[in-house]
Amino acid sequence: GEGLPRPPQTRVMVVANQKGGVGKTTTTVNLAASLALHGARVLVIDLDPQGNASTALGIDHHAEVPSIYDVLVESKPLSDVVMPVPDVEGLFCAPATIDLAGAEIELVSLVARESRLQRAIEAYEQPLDYVLIDCPPSLGLLTVNALVAGAEVVIPIQCEYYALEGLGQLLKNVELVRAHLNPKLHVSTILLTMYDGRTRLASQVAEEVRTHFGKEVLRTSIPRSVRISEAPSYGQTVLTYDPGSSGALSYLEAAREMALRGVEASIAVEYDPQGE
Ligand code: ADP
Ligand code: MG
Repeated sequence: GEGLPRPPQTRVMVVANQKGGVGKTTTTVNLAASLALHGARVLVIDLDPQGNASTALGIDHHAEVPSIYDVLVESKPLSDVVMPVPDVEGLFCAPATIDLAGAEIELVSLVARESRLQRAIEAYEQPLDYVLIDCPPSLGLLTVNALVAGAEVVIPIQCEYYALEGLGQLLKNVELVRAHLNPKLHVSTILLTMYDGRTRLASQVAEEVRTHFGKEVLRTSIPRSVRISEAPSYGQTVLTYDPGSSGALSYLEAAREMALRGVEASIAVEYDPQGE
C-alpha cells in the first residue's frame, strides 16, 4: 500500500465509548485495515464478548477458539491467540469468544486484575506499529484493562441528539485511570461517525463536539454508508468489500490523519525542553 510514516514506537489505542451502537467496532476494524493498507503492522484486540470485531475481520471465534479470554484469565501469551486477517497484509486479530462475558467477574479475584492486558501486550514480541482495542459498551474491568494498556483513547461519536451525554462518565474514568494507574493515558482522537451533513442536527452536533474538544477531533468524519454496514456480514472491512466507496475512502483518510498526527506529536515531544 501507499506508505505513511511509521510511529517511532507502537501506538496502543483504545476505542471506547460506553454507549452501544456509536461505531466503536466499525471504527476499530476499518481504521485498523486502513492503517495496514497504508503499510503499517496492526493488531486488533477484540475486548467485547459479542466478538463483533472478530466477525468483521473474518476471524473464527466460536467457543473453542483460543481467545483474549485465555490471555486475560489464564495468562496465555498473546502470541498463542493472534490470527492473521485474511486478505489484508499486516493486519492481525486477537479474537473474543463468548466466555469473555464471564471475565468481567473472574478478573475481580485475580492478581494485577487491571493490568493483565498491558502485561500481555508488553510481552508480545512481534513488531507492531499499532494496537487497536475494541471495547465493550461498559466501563467495567475489561475497559479498565484497555485503558491501562493504552496511551491513547479514541472516541467515536455518533452525530445525534444525545451524543455528548454519557461522555462525562468515560472522561472521568480516563482521568481516574490516568491519575492512579497509567500516567500516559490521554484522549488523542475523536472521530465523528455516521455523519449526515445534510441534516441540520448532525452539523450542529459536529460543531458542538469541535467546540468542546478542539484539536482532538479529526477533520475527516465518517459518512453514513450502507457499504460500511454491509461489510461485516461478509467477514470483511469496507476496505476490501468496496474499496472505492465513500465509506472506505473516509476511513483511509481518517487513518492517514491519525498516522500523521501521531508522528507530529512525537516530534513535538522531542523538541519540548520540559518533555520526558
Ligand atoms: P458499537 O461497536 O459502538 O456498538 P458498531 O460499530 O457495532 O457500534 O455500529 C453499530 C451499527 O451501526 C452497526 O450495525 C454498524 O454496521 C452500523 N454502522 C456503523 N458505522 C456506520 C456508518 N458509517 N454507516 C452506516 N452504518 C454504520
Ligand atoms: Mg462494538
